[in-house]
Amino acid sequence: MTPLADRLIRRIGATGPVGIAEYMTECLFDPEHGYYATRDPLGARGDFITAPEVSQVFGECLGLALAQAWLDRGAPSPFALTELGPGRGTLMADMLRATRAVPGFRDAMQVHLIEASTPLKAVQAETLSGISATWHESLADLPDLPLFLVANEFFDALPIRQFLRDGDGWRERVVGVQNNALAFGLTEAAPVAALNDRVEETREGDLVELGLPAQSIATEIGRRIATSGGVALIIDYGTWGGTGDTLQAVQGHQKTGPLEAPGEADLTAHVDFAALAAAATGADTAPLTPQGVFLERLGITARAQTLARSLSGPALEAHIAAHRRLTHPDEMGSLFQALALHAPGTPTPPGVVA
Ligand code: SAH
Repeated sequence: MTPLADRLIRRIGATGPVGIAEYMTECLFDPEHGYYATRDPLGARGDFITAPEVSQVFGECLGLALAQAWLDRGAPSPFALTELGPGRGTLMADMLRATRAVPGFRDAMQVHLIEASTPLKAVQAETLSGISATWHESLADLPDLPLFLVANEFFDALPIRQFLRDGDGWRERVVGVQNNALAFGLTEAAPVAALNDRVEETREGDLVELGLPAQSIATEIGRRIATSGGVALIIDYGTWGGTGDTLQAVQGHQKTGPLEAPGEADLTAHVDFAALAAAATGADTAPLTPQGVFLERLGITARAQTLARSLSGPALEAHIAAHRRLTHPDEMGSLFQALALHAPGTPTPPGVVA
């Protein structure tokens, strides 16, 4: 049993079950035992790998897409080049390298990073040494500047609640204790105002997920883009609406049960892009685009071929495998999706429309 499991069992035993969102927050960000609070999950012996860690071409394509969107908006200066949940800082470093030659971009940019994990902040500072960057706890702390934002595998880490449809109401899925172990349970059925718009499209027994923190961040991005201009590129695994339990835990590159190793496994849920788009009321959204299609439109293959020219043997094979991993529908190409937000009446960012 993990130290956090022990503590949660005692606490739940004393005060009753907790919702999934509270459980996720404890598991990920408890200051003493939380998964992100205590480690770099992407490091050499990490638990999972993300697109920027697979290949530098991912960040290069995203950097050039943001730079093009910046040029399309008349190259505003200054602007906030912003990343939510920058992990090891790899994506930002690759974006900055790829945009070095874009005239005026470097001089106009201010780099802002939103990160909650102390160990990852330290890794980011090392990766981005020589770059002047500002770290924040929340988007609300950003200056009011045109916003050019990326978020890769950020929204899946935000807490969700789960509800089971029961008559016209909902039973919330909670974490309780059974036989001195953590166990899922359900509350009594009750109406949930935030789910009123889902009653029509769901049936008895359907499970729906509600990510209120993700929605409020999307609202803040939309508000900033509507008032100060800019674009946001959000990439993650998920779907446009839908039902079903997507809470998952990963430890050492293997799936495990979400209650198996609290604090020592990564916990995520699929992103509901329809909910993000609806919450970003100030902004327009381009059609949700599969990552493979998005990266192809941004020129990933030409860039990968250029890099391949200086490679041979196992390095070349690894490079080809990485390109396939990012783009192929059997790998990350269609599970991962790109959602672009932009101000109404402004050009759609590159990659999300044909
Ligand atoms: N974008 C990186 C890392 C993805 S892992 C990559 O693609 O490699 C998720 C990242 O989001 C981590 O940096 C994690 O610490 C951060 N994060 C998760 N929840 C957060 C929150 N509520 N506020 C700020 N950062 C958060």
